[in-house]
Amino acid sequence: MMSCIFSVVLGAKEAMGCGRIQIITLCSLLLLFPVIHGWGTVGHLTVCRIAQSRLSKAAADAVKQLLPAYAENDLGSLCIWPDHVKFIYHWSSALHYINTPDNLCNYQYNRDCKDENGEKGRCVAGAINNYTSQLLGYSSHSSQPKYNLTQALLFLSHFIGDIHQPLHVGFTSDKGGNTIDVHWYTRKQNLHHIWDDNIVETAEERFYDSNVEELVDAIKQNITTEWADEVKGWEACSLNKTACPDVYVSQPHMKEIHKPCCSLTISSTLNLIIHCITTP
Ligand SMILES: [Zn+2]
Repeated sequence: MMSCIFSVVLGAKEAMGCGRIQIITLCSLLLLFPVIHGWGTVGHLTVCRIAQSRLSKAAADAVKQLLPAYAENDLGSLCIWPDHVKFIYHWSSALHYINTPDNLCNYQYNRDCKDENGEKGRCVAGAINNYTSQLLGYSSHSSQPKYNLTQALLFLSHFIGDIHQPLHVGFTSDKGGNTIDVHWYTRKQNLHHIWDDNIVETAEERFYDSNVEELVDAIKQNITTEWADEVKGWEACSLNKTACPDVYVSQPHMKEIHKPCCSLTISSTLNLIIHCITTP
């Protein structure tokens, strides 16, 4: 069976919560989880392009400074990077998802946020907390930051996308739908892959002429029209925190995927990080 838990929403924008975030220690254990992915390239690119378009001026400047020159200030072009380095940074594989006990339709950070060796905090929610915390140390004047904040930005943007993919919080036994074979039209595929890639790519192909920019623009337009009433909720993070991954996971009303909401979550998290840094 696949998971029945997923969620949305972020950022205590009203409260402008700059509360301390638990720092998770990332250990260099050699982990092998070959079947887990995230949104595919189109999904991550779409989510991050929309997010970048909604940044405050200060956050947009910080993102521009952190991105490598070859990205030409396009966050979306590099949001898939954490999937590409999984096999070099073996420790990062477990950070793309959360496995919950089979048939329990709830999620608890202390119980579930761990890797297959039981190492606490090593899951996508722990990673979001960790990289948010690292980015709170950003300073445009610092020549020697404590962490590699370019990587932190890419990990955070990627993982907020991942956590909104319903099967990234899934049952342990089926590895988030990776062991469930189904048919997508005429092709046999596993359920996880269908959510990562096939649904998004088929929509892009059929409704937007295989043009990802048109897909991005259509979602951006819906954010300001059809979904306008929901935007505040997507951007709001309870508990006076900058990021609240546990809320993204367990929001009970999330029975459908809301891609725009992960974009808003990324943009509001980055906006809030910069706000926290620049506000005395
Ligand atoms: Zn991923």
